[in-house]
Amino acid sequence: MSLEELKFKEDLLKCVRCGGCKALCPTYDKDVSEGMGARGRLVLVNSLLKGDIKPSPLLNNRIFSCILCNACSGLCPLKVDIVGAIYHGRALLNKTDRRRKYLRYAAKLSVKWPELSFRILRMLRNNLLPALSSRGVIPFTPELPSASFKSPEQVHKVSKHRGRVAIFTGCSVNFIFPSLAESLINVLKKLRYEVVIPKGMVCCGAPLRSLGLEKEAAELAKKNLGVFNKLKVEAILSLCPTCTMSLKTEYPKIAGEGLDKAMDISVFFKDKIETTAPIFKTAVYHDPCHLYHGLGVSKEPREIIRKAGIGLINEISPECCGFGGTFCFSNSKISEGLLTDRAKQIKASGADTLITSCPGCMLQLGRMISDRPVLHLVELLEEAYCFRTANRKESGKKQELNLFD
Ligand code: SF4
Ligand code: SF4
Repeated sequence: MSLEELKFKEDLLKCVRCGGCKALCPTYDKDVSEGMGARGRLVLVNSLLKGDIKPSPLLNNRIFSCILCNACSGLCPLKVDIVGAIYHGRALLNKTDRRRKYLRYAAKLSVKWPELSFRILRMLRNNLLPALSSRGVIPFTPELPSASFKSPEQVHKVSKHRGRVAIFTGCSVNFIFPSLAESLINVLKKLRYEVVIPKGMVCCGAPLRSLGLEKEAAELAKKNLGVFNKLKVEAILSLCPTCTMSLKTEYPKIAGEGLDKAMDISVFFKDKIETTAPIFKTAVYHDPCHLYHGLGVSKEPREIIRKAGIGLINEISPECCGFGGTFCFSNSKISEGLLTDRAKQIKASGADTLITSCPGCMLQLGRMISDRPVLHLVELLEEAYCFRTANRKESGKKQELNLFD
């Protein structure tokens, strides 16, 4: 048994099976059986480590049906590393897990040849992807932009800059929402920050790690550490909480060190923007799991929404939208159930606009929320501090803007 396994085994022995970690578990909420909850998964990983049970399709499905949302991680009074144990279980089981075999191939290929994979997906978007989606092989056909994100410059300079920051773009921004990276560059330049988009960054590794490919994820982590450790910047900003969490808190676990300067944009901008005049729009904010549970960030995005002049109404409790990266492909029924519940809560809030901080949540929620804008926080920042302030300066009077109508 490896040292790492011994560590996990020791940690799991602390568990007194009180069940407290099940309280917010979204998969337990949808399928009320012990093996679909946090405590049940821990017991299964423990039994696997002890050799009491062997890999089987049922065991694999229980361990791979966790969304890795981190909702359980703050709940254990004995501080058992629940999500760490589940990752460890996946790494032990990945070779016997036939159900996600093709998902693993696809994930490895898209990480190795991201641009080529994007072009192939673009070619297939009108025929094969809808056919696969209608047969339930993939949960939905995502809309793809005409081109991936490509920064025209590696360093976006501004005169008399007040600081220098780097952006970790990540796959979902690069290949699904490239305009978000452009919005972030615009906002940063408007606030006189020099922006670095370093060459050589790769996927954060979270999709591979979620499929049990821990070593492959660690290789990606080392590449990113090599790229970002060289930079002289005050912050490394990402628009995706899963990427931020990977760089900051997960890399130390898989690659021995993390990027302490990695942060969510709301944490960075909170004290750097001024309050604008209110506009007559209301919003509801959806907390992405990895931002709320993983990084403990919840006040900052709300502060920014208020500063940007939008009234927040009817707080909704932080619940998973069911996306979970590769989870929505391999557990589509639970994913759809969680999405349906979340969309109902958002619609019932009565807000004009839905704002969130994660491209994955935008993609998922946008499938059921089509009657109002679904925005990333950075789009609101761009609207308020680049476009709206510019318009106001020109006209010299307060305006009511229609956000992205
Ligand atoms: S992991 Fe912690 S919260 Fe969950 S059952 Fe064990 S002791 Fe209780
Ligand atoms: S990470 Fe989320 S889905 Fe997985 S066991 Fe914990 S609460 Fe449940």
